[in-house]
Amino acid sequence: MNIVALENDLTTLPSSVRRWIDREPAHYVGGRWHGSHASLPVIEPSSGREIGLIGKGGAAEIDMAVAAARAALVAPEWRDAGPLAREALIHRLAALIEERADDLALLDCVDNGMPLWLARGIDVGGTVDVFRYYAGWPSKLAGRTVDVSAPPGMGRFEGMTRREPVGVIAAIVPWNVPLMMAAWKLAPALAAGCTVVLKPSEEASLSALALADLVEQAGFPVGVVNVVTGLGSEAGDALVRHPGVDKISFTGSTGTGRAIAREAGASLKKLTLELGGKSPTILFADADLDRAIVGAANAIFLNSGQVCVAGSRLYVEDAIHDQVVERLQAHIRTIPVGAGMGEGVFMGPLVSARQRARVDAYVEAARLGGMGVDSAADYAGAAGFYVAPTLVTGASHDDPITQEEIFGPVLGIYRFSAEEELIAAANGTDFGLAASLWTQDIDRVHRLSRSLQCGKVSVNAGGFPYPGLPEGGYKGSGFGRDLGPDAVEQCLQTKTLLIHIA
Ligand code: NAD
Repeated sequence: MNIVALENDLTTLPSSVRRWIDREPAHYVGGRWHGSHASLPVIEPSSGREIGLIGKGGAAEIDMAVAAARAALVAPEWRDAGPLAREALIHRLAALIEERADDLALLDCVDNGMPLWLARGIDVGGTVDVFRYYAGWPSKLAGRTVDVSAPPGMGRFEGMTRREPVGVIAAIVPWNVPLMMAAWKLAPALAAGCTVVLKPSEEASLSALALADLVEQAGFPVGVVNVVTGLGSEAGDALVRHPGVDKISFTGSTGTGRAIAREAGASLKKLTLELGGKSPTILFADADLDRAIVGAANAIFLNSGQVCVAGSRLYVEDAIHDQVVERLQAHIRTIPVGAGMGEGVFMGPLVSARQRARVDAYVEAARLGGMGVDSAADYAGAAGFYVAPTLVTGASHDDPITQEEIFGPVLGIYRFSAEEELIAAANGTDFGLAASLWTQDIDRVHRLSRSLQCGKVSVNAGGFPYPGLPEGGYKGSGFGRDLGPDAVEQCLQTKTLLIHIA
């Protein structure tokens, strides 16, 4: 096992990063920073130590933020700015994020625990790409004109449709890729002309606060973007229930998604839900095994398994099953695990002690249930929230390890022989987020990609998000889509104009 330094050295952080860690807790509302009456600790995952404080907002801060967003929605500076001005603002924001990319990556590295290369490349790099992609949309949004046949005697008419912003969007996001998750909500909302109240996760809010600063520098009118930090049960709940919110755009766990859907149903708020997953990776005997084994490992160990589309179930065709297990057992022992700022680290700690305990409990239950558990190292007693890359064999289809989202570096491995049996197993969970398929057989690719009940199928590669391609789930993984044209569509509503021509 390849263990790099287990604790980040925070004394090397530049002052431009430290200032976000050391500052007084505050919320960004209506273009101003408001000191928070209560606070929550910022815990650094590689050491388990408290390094700072964020605001613990509640109903009062949410009231203020929704009021600011509502006012901004109809203020001429935003409503009448026109599409090219919105494009320019979003482009400016993307450029500022790119300029500050190193600082933002360090913030998410010490707040969330992710390796710096991942924070820089995917989390912050992906954020820049998403803002650039949506910056192009405002000038391409358009309604239609329609020839109308009016009832006899009513004269001539012209019909038109206008695309209008849906209104104030409550964006509630998780901690696993903090900045990018916020960007997936903000960018299409801004392109559509909406205003936003962002509630980042209490586990990793620093980069969302730094983003608010860049929103201001980019020159967005006051109140267009507001950020309130705090607990899901307080700030999140108040935001979901607020009558001034038109749409909730939520990414997080399926349990929280269900609770939010109940509230949105009662108040008839528009809703998109990006929820959990239990995605299968499928290896056929004809796959390029060298690539497939690394692909299958990366699909679950990237970001320590804290990825919604993580390939947490590996289905291996009978003929290559034992060989694949052996090669994965060797592979997990080469994965460099350590604190995110360390050179060459592939996998960092989990985000929190709570998340580590949750993952450990699944592994322990598998061990007690007599399954084969192979962990690449033992971190019991480490101060940071480490869980080693772990393989589990011999789990049945109904075991929690097969059915429930663990959100950690734990891979269940299963054997299959017939395609129908594989499809039933792969589809046999409540989730339907993603799948990856490794085979050289093009007919099988077409057959299986149609049969898999999920929002995304990657073929002979690990999946990665591209701003132009929608991401989202079937079944219990949610509804609506982030990214692509779909996400901006979901921030718009259609108004019909029926005009009499004299
Ligand atoms: P979570 O559901 O605990 O929290 C997500 C967000 O919701 C946080 O900001 C939290 O404060 C808030 N929240 C919690 N309870 C709330 C409530 N009652 N009302 C309003 N807001 C509330 O999820 P998490 O543990 O932060 O994130 C991990 C989950 O996110 C996993 O299930 C993962 O699969 C999912 N996820 C999904 C996608 C996707 O695109 N489908 C992407 C990333 C993460």
